[in-house]
Amino acid sequence: MKTEQTHDVAIIGGGAAGLSAAVTLARSLRSVVVVDAGEPRNAPSAGAHNVLGREGIPPLELLAAGRREAEQYGAEVHSGRAESVRRCGDGFEVHLAGGGTLHARRLLLATGLIDELPDVPGVRGFWGESVLHCPYCHGWEVRGQRIGVLGTSPLSVHQALLFRQLSDDVTLFLHTMPEPDDETWEQLFALDIQVVNGTVQRLGSGNGVLQTVVLEDGHEFEVDAVAVGPRVVARADLYEQLGGALTEHPMGAFIEAGPMGRTEIPGVWTAGNVNDLPAMVSVSSGAGVMAGAAINADLVAEDARTAVELRRSLSRT
Ligand SMILES: Cc1cc2nc3c(=O)[nH]c(=O)nc-3n(C[C@H](O)[C@H](O)[C@H](O)COP(=O)(O)OP(=O)(O)OC[C@H]3O[C@@H](n4cnc5c(N)ncnc54)[C@H](O)[C@@H]3O)c2cc1C
Repeated sequence: MKTEQTHDVAIIGGGAAGLSAAVTLARSLRSVVVVDAGEPRNAPSAGAHNVLGREGIPPLELLAAGRREAEQYGAEVHSGRAESVRRCGDGFEVHLAGGGTLHARRLLLATGLIDELPDVPGVRGFWGESVLHCPYCHGWEVRGQRIGVLGTSPLSVHQALLFRQLSDDVTLFLHTMPEPDDETWEQLFALDIQVVNGTVQRLGSGNGVLQTVVLEDGHEFEVDAVAVGPRVVARADLYEQLGGALTEHPMGAFIEAGPMGRTEIPGVWTAGNVNDLPAMVSVSSGAGVMAGAAINADLVAEDARTAVELRRSLSRT
């Protein structure tokens, strides 16, 4: 990795958001470098859904195509992790894991988020397959099946209602969620959503297939899929190194930013899940395009100011 060149933009994270921004910026003839650790959030899933024109495409295949498209316009894509960042003059200095430094005038953080899964044995093993979080991502695939919802927060009721749209066999396991209020109980009864009190001990399986939800008291309930609501926390180490802080949200924590991804730290933009916790692939991709356009406009304004200053100073000599 070259160290002497100052890129217009360094993009940290090469998921849907980062690569879309890279294409937008590279098509504006900006010099762009993308650093990507290669762990997109949806990697455990077989297919990415609600992606118009590429419905059901394997997540890594989609990103490989995105990388090729970005590179085709001249973006550099570096596989690896950006370990630290610091302000350097008007721009930024990014240090890569394993050595290497790069410089850029602007920084786009598209680092995604971490899904903090409920600490129930079996959840992690089936995550992205038969343990699900998003009815739009995988709901159609489990339509009509026996779906359990692991209650961990008041939002679990909302999740049960959404999955009820897809199956008439939905069971809400209250587990660690607060006791539903009267209005919620009425909704659950009216929609024929079964409710099971008690703490879930583990998810049971056989032959590598999810089969049951097992309570601490030994009761077992047969299921085909389980919906969980992870706490979602933006990957914000680099933002914090620059003095930024996460903002709390009922779903987790995120980096607060304006509609085009600009943060309160001058020169730092964000796109995708890092600033928009519920964003799916297409939304993250769209946010990347918007952030790319906003960064380009910001650089255009700076270049114009610099050109005017230069012209004035030349006319004075
Ligand atoms: C199991 C699962 C299934 C899903 N299925 C769907 C679906 O079917 N359809 C849909 O629309 N959405 C789906 N989603 C949501 C989808 O994953 C997100 O919308 C999307 O990944 C967000 O894109 P992003 O670019 O913001 O982040 P990500 O895709 O997570 O990409 C972030 C990238 O940044 C990299 N990174 C992070 N930190 C660093 C660093 N310091 N240095 C270098 N690189 C770094 C990561 O390795 C990663 O490659 C699913 C989510 C999950 C959890």
